[in-house]
Amino acid sequence: MGKRFDTGEQFGVVIVGAGPAGLVLGNLLLDRGVDCVILERRGREAVEGRARAGFLAAHSVRVLADNGLDAGVRARGREHGTCLFRSGRGEFTLDYGRLGQGEVHTVYPQQDLVRDLVAEYLRRGGELRFGAEAEEISAGRVRVRGAADVTGRYVAGCDGHRGVARRALTAQGVATARRDHGVSWLAVLAAAPPSLPAVGYALHERGFAGHMARTRTVTRYYLQCPRGTDPAEWDEDRIWAELATRMRTAEFGPLTAGRVLERAVVDLRSDVLQHPGAGRLWLAGDAAGLISPSAAKGANLAVLQAERLARAFEEALAHGDEGRLEGYAADCLPRVWRAHEFSHWMSGLLHGPSGDDAEARYGRALQHARLESLRTSRAHQDHFAENYTGI
Ligand SMILES: Cc1cc2nc3c(=O)[nH]c(=O)nc-3n(C[C@H](O)[C@H](O)[C@H](O)COP(=O)(O)OP(=O)(O)OC[C@H]3O[C@@H](n4cnc5c(N)ncnc54)[C@H](O)[C@@H]3O)c2cc1C
Repeated sequence: MGKRFDTGEQFGVVIVGAGPAGLVLGNLLLDRGVDCVILERRGREAVEGRARAGFLAAHSVRVLADNGLDAGVRARGREHGTCLFRSGRGEFTLDYGRLGQGEVHTVYPQQDLVRDLVAEYLRRGGELRFGAEAEEISAGRVRVRGAADVTGRYVAGCDGHRGVARRALTAQGVATARRDHGVSWLAVLAAAPPSLPAVGYALHERGFAGHMARTRTVTRYYLQCPRGTDPAEWDEDRIWAELATRMRTAEFGPLTAGRVLERAVVDLRSDVLQHPGAGRLWLAGDAAGLISPSAAKGANLAVLQAERLARAFEEALAHGDEGRLEGYAADCLPRVWRAHEFSHWMSGLLHGPSGDDAEARYGRALQHARLESLRTSRAHQDHFAENYTGI
């Protein structure tokens, strides 16, 4: 259990949300002697079973390692440093781990990371209340559905993009910058070993298809689909047939099919709060900004922000110095925006317009010019690698 700084409140920090942001923050605060509580609206099983991200940037792995949170990642994570692109003009592989800064990803499913972080937080003596839904946050006070209010000197809003923390800030007039990329993906999780030794991006006139390893027996696939698609329209046969077409298996070899465990439609949207906090409420992760999944940055930004916020809360509570807290936005936002810039570029690379009018032809020609630049230019490849793995 953390130290009690005399704040006159129940806790030094009340954390709302037990996703990667809230759990990394909670663990780091306990380690720094700050007493905190995590309020999570769902049950433990649901939190630990939610499959989403899988690619950890080197920076995220360093944060986990520096804070004694990397036992699972070290034991079961697999380093990954190649991606391949397919289109009507062939296939090429980028060995990005040998380009740019020479950094690689570690493939480790988000639900495994969350499970590790929950276990470690509880082992460190932390208080985590499952089934505790925050209804409103105001002046360090969190109203919890069907339970007593919880107060903290500070509240950390780590409750995702649709959470109450973000609403509380926007209600105070904090502006957002937003983009709808106009594209949706059918995100499929299959009980099937990876089909490729690399992340696969397939550009096709029928739309983008993606392949990402998760474990030795589970693979994530993506299929670009029209906005408003009902996932139920996609049965297993249709999914595997469409993946085969877009990933050009007739030319490059078959996919290893398996049972579809989950399918969901994700609309590619990005949205950044212009200032991720004020006074006693500070946000991290998707609550502070949503990033489209095209470059796998969301969970990594959540880890970055949680780490920065932990230091800032510690200084504020231990020394009464809020300088780092006031500097939190300036500290994080440039890196957040760089991730958005790259993610936006990736989205332009992966999604060509459909149709056969002049604008669509122009858009598709640009898409292929981008891909060709990446295939042939070493300078472009280094730039890609630095941004693909960097946070
Ligand atoms: C299909 C898909 C694939 C992705 N792939 C990648 C990837 O490869 N790499 C990557 O870096 N990112 C990826 N992402 C993004 C990544 O999953 C998110 O950015 C990440 O989960 C953000 O973590 P978080 O802790 O901010 O929010 P979340 O994980 O959303 O956690 C928020 C928590 O707050 C809880 N909560 C919400 N409201 C309340 C409330 N009122 N009271 C109490 N608790 C509340 C929720 O139940 C949840 O547990 C992917 C996302 C998707 C959808």
